[in-house]
Amino acid sequence: MQICRIGLDDTDHVEVGCTTSSFDHLLTEISSSMHCKVIERRLVRLWPFARRRTRGNGALGAILEIPDNGALDLKKICTEWFSNLLEQVRNHPPSVFEASPCLVITFDQTPESWYWDAVRKHVDSEKLLEDALQRDVIVLRTEPSFGVVGACAAISWENNANSSWELISWRDESRIGTQRILSPESVLDLEKTHPQTFLNRDPTKGKGMIAPRTPCPVLYGIRGSTNTAVESAHHWLQSREDVERSVSFAIHRTNQLSDDHIESSTSGTVTSLPEETKGGHASLSVFSSGRSVKLVAFSEGGPVNGLLRSLIPGDRITWSGLLSPDGSIHLEKIKLDFATARIVGRPLCCSRTMRSSGRGQGIRCLTCGRIERRSWQCVEFETKMGYSVGEWIEPTPSNRRHLSRPLSHGLPGTN
Ligand SMILES: [Zn+2]
Repeated sequence: MQICRIGLDDTDHVEVGCTTSSFDHLLTEISSSMHCKVIERRLVRLWPFARRRTRGNGALGAILEIPDNGALDLKKICTEWFSNLLEQVRNHPPSVFEASPCLVITFDQTPESWYWDAVRKHVDSEKLLEDALQRDVIVLRTEPSFGVVGACAAISWENNANSSWELISWRDESRIGTQRILSPESVLDLEKTHPQTFLNRDPTKGKGMIAPRTPCPVLYGIRGSTNTAVESAHHWLQSREDVERSVSFAIHRTNQLSDDHIESSTSGTVTSLPEETKGGHASLSVFSSGRSVKLVAFSEGGPVNGLLRSLIPGDRITWSGLLSPDGSIHLEKIKLDFATARIVGRPLCCSRTMRSSGRGQGIRCLTCGRIERRSWQCVEFETKMGYSVGEWIEPTPSNRRHLSRPLSHGLPGTN
């Protein structure tokens, strides 16, 4: 027997859900046509700024065990399946980007940098394709083949302590496009009875997060810390009356919640007041490691955006975020390390604010006439703003990236 890895990406541009379903069909095809054991399936999320990305920017992969003489059979099955896929893709309704599918097969170790580059920065698909072909990776593709980036990342990812699991279940074909049956109570109970699953719902919005909102074939996805936890959660959901029956499911090891897209957290001192742009997004400048950096917090960042807006020059912060192509940092998490005192006004006397009595003079109470040295009254940031110094802040669950590690899973550090 021999081990091989296959990877697939860019089969559709609506949601990753469709790629998961296509990939499931491929594995079913392989397993029914030749002797083959699927050792592990994988769902790998990639660089959130990739120009050609779906919302989740994910690629699919699998580790297979096939007979020593099975390589030609595998290649033949994959080639046939791939040409059928291209036929389907041609019939897709037009979209901003045409799907550019790529399926790769390798029997050798591929460079782990193929994964790290694809999760952290832009990758030139033409150069990668050349490299892959030189390494005897079998590449089935269209022209041009943007999908090669995700497909190669999927075969090169080495899971680590940060990897987690996602079980994806699919709907009966006749139901696709109709409302999914999944009661809010079932998702709430799922959370209570299956503590090893996570991100099932956003408690701040009271809404479920396991079902996609697009008309794709996915019924729901359950994320969790072990493969057994997500599987038992699925069977538990399927035993309920208020949950739609799924026709099939598969468990994927995934880099979701790994923070792999971020190199490390950084600290600096705020040098400007926040500027607000339309839509409630905010940005400001900080001085960090000898240079000025622009930090951006989108309104969807909720508490992250709120803290950024309340900062003033002199405050010191630590953040974790993603370098965007325009050079600014898009914040994912933020922590206030030191807060400059906030001036709230002149001191009070007789329940009223004391007033300046003129240039070079003291301040005076307009009621009792008392005069004092000129001064301002300050208040500590924490009292005024309701944020705590030293505490990490993150967006609400439904506004986090798939790749982002929740604070409940560990504090940001160096990856
Ligand atoms: Zn007074």
